[in-house]
Amino acid sequence: MRSYEKYFRQNRLPHMWCPGCGNGIAMKSIVQAIEKEGLTQDNTVIVSGIGCSSRASGYMDFDTLHTAHGRAIPFATGIKLARPELNVIVITGDGDCTAIGGNHFIHGARRNVDLTVVLFNNNIYGMTGGQASPMTPMHKRATTAPYGTVDRPFDACKLAEAAGATYVARSTAFHVQHLTDMIARGIQNKGFSLIEAMVQCPTAYGRKNKQGQPSVAMKWMRDSAVMKVAWDKLPAEKKVDKFPIGILYENKYEDYGTAYSEVIEAAQK
Ligand code: SF4
Repeated sequence: MRSYEKYFRQNRLPHMWCPGCGNGIAMKSIVQAIEKEGLTQDNTVIVSGIGCSSRASGYMDFDTLHTAHGRAIPFATGIKLARPELNVIVITGDGDCTAIGGNHFIHGARRNVDLTVVLFNNNIYGMTGGQASPMTPMHKRATTAPYGTVDRPFDACKLAEAAGATYVARSTAFHVQHLTDMIARGIQNKGFSLIEAMVQCPTAYGRKNKQGQPSVAMKWMRDSAVMKVAWDKLPAEKKVDKFPIGILYENKYEDYGTAYSEVIEAAQK
């Protein structure tokens, strides 16, 4: 048995994800980051919302909560405030986090709640029927945008930074070790951490956009992602159709649990 296999509920496997889906890669990166940071199954809670990505909590052998659509961050906030000693990791998708849960997302970041939020971005609602999400790129097709969406997409990383998150990073299912490292650094941050994990969805997004085999999407990630250090030196014309990965933003600020405990202390006096 490999060291990370103990983190999975073997009786819940095999998983329900489609062949070639990137969700399993991101889930494995999370458990490897957990192992790397020395967290245990007893001091770590996994909270997810609804959607393909959020099925991960059912497969992971921790204390887990599979909550309502868009509501993972409020549940996780409650757990963190009640039991600050626990490590709380949120697994969410682009629709779950930035549409239904959009307000919870920005307010969780604004408060700097000590959570590690891993956003599996497959650019579409997979499980619920292939509708366009707020992170579907312009002119890409979905069941609700058969001629291509004209809605400008959110950059969830910029949104998190603007809202007050203290650690923001991006990686992809192609860059597995890098993704693990980005999540591990997010776990270290005492505050709101967002890690966008770009994952391929060959069934909903891939078919609608005639992407072909899952490997095509992974090659696109390999060829389009640019490490942040190199990205900062690129002229604007060379950034077209590319995106940065790595730590995009970091800051230090008092986390919400610490601020809240000071309020409790003041009230008790
Ligand atoms: Fe993965 Fe897409 Fe299938 Fe959902 S629909 S399991 S995201 S490939």
